[in-house]
Amino acid sequence: MVIRAEYIWIDGTEPTANVRSKTKILSNAVEGLDQLPIWGYDGSSTNQATGKDSDLVLQPVYYCPDPIRGGKDVLVLCEVLKTDMSPHPSNSRAVLRETVKRWADQEPIFGIEQEYTLFRGMRPLGFPENGGFPRPQGPYYCGVGADEIFGRPLVEAHLDACLRAGIAISGINAEVMPGQWEFQVGPVGPLEVSDQLWTARWLLHRIGEDYGISATLDPKPVRGDWNGAGAHTNFSTKAMRTSYDAVIAAAEALGRNALEHVRNYGFGIESRLTGSHETAPYDQFHYGVSDRGASVRIPWQVAREGKGYLEDRRPNANCDPYVVTRLITETCCSALA
Ligand code: ADP
Ligand code: MN
Ligand code: MN
Ligand code: MN
Repeated sequence: MVIRAEYIWIDGTEPTANVRSKTKILSNAVEGLDQLPIWGYDGSSTNQATGKDSDLVLQPVYYCPDPIRGGKDVLVLCEVLKTDMSPHPSNSRAVLRETVKRWADQEPIFGIEQEYTLFRGMRPLGFPENGGFPRPQGPYYCGVGADEIFGRPLVEAHLDACLRAGIAISGINAEVMPGQWEFQVGPVGPLEVSDQLWTARWLLHRIGEDYGISATLDPKPVRGDWNGAGAHTNFSTKAMRTSYDAVIAAAEALGRNALEHVRNYGFGIESRLTGSHETAPYDQFHYGVSDRGASVRIPWQVAREGKGYLEDRRPNANCDPYVVTRLITETCCSALA
């Protein structure tokens, strides 16, 4: 019995990478990662190689049931390698692998809140067809009703697909701007959360095709008095999950490395981290309990119980989770070591 394996990888588009995929027919059902062959593609069509030396290698690193095709079909997330089997420069996962090895004993885990905005053509869902703007923000966040909520059938289909794929999705909600939504993945390890988030992003774009709706991870899809889209990144280590001092030490360490983090948290971060719309200015850092205007928020339950996790509110919706989880792991685990 043949099966369809959808090979998914991250391209070299600047300034923000996209996901790509193509289908491989395999002659047997897959029972382990090692049964998935390496494959290849034309890197000159993805901004990762020249036409003269175009071949790049797809190395499977994570797979799950394909919830769209069903049956024994699978989605296969890959790292991009050069033909000498070394990681391609655009392969940020390979760098994270080293970080994960170095700090494994601290057991870092992440929950990422992926915000996104649905568009039909050039217009966000819920924005009037003939131009202009909807009613100001206020009723849309976690709203219900056809005057406030736009795109729910697609959002529900995506949630269902993530669950059937076995992705560690932990919730969804409608966001502050019309047509803006969020799903959360985690808490799981740095590689797991990032692999599953990229796969969930691919599913969102793919399911959007069936609805004639595109999902953008643009951090500021509409200028003006409209919220941007982020990827709040919740983080803890074993020590933080038992000690409030460790939570504070991690927040302080993020403050000492603030600029390096912000520079690598997604293109266009200055347009989103303005100090308004539940953000702190990108060039300032402060943390606080329950503070949604802070760079890093400590949830109130964490302060009360004296242990738990922190939320880095700065990453953009269009961030690369392999980069964000690497920086946070590196900064916080080295401070806690
Ligand atoms: P918010 O109130 O900021 O909207 P969400 O409920 O959307 O928060 O997201 C919180 C995220 O934090 C979830 O993905 C959850 O899995 C994750 N999380 C919970 N506990 C921990 C922990 N100890 N370490 C890391 N992440 C955690
Ligand atoms: Mn949230
Ligand atoms: Mn949110
Ligand atoms: Mn949040």
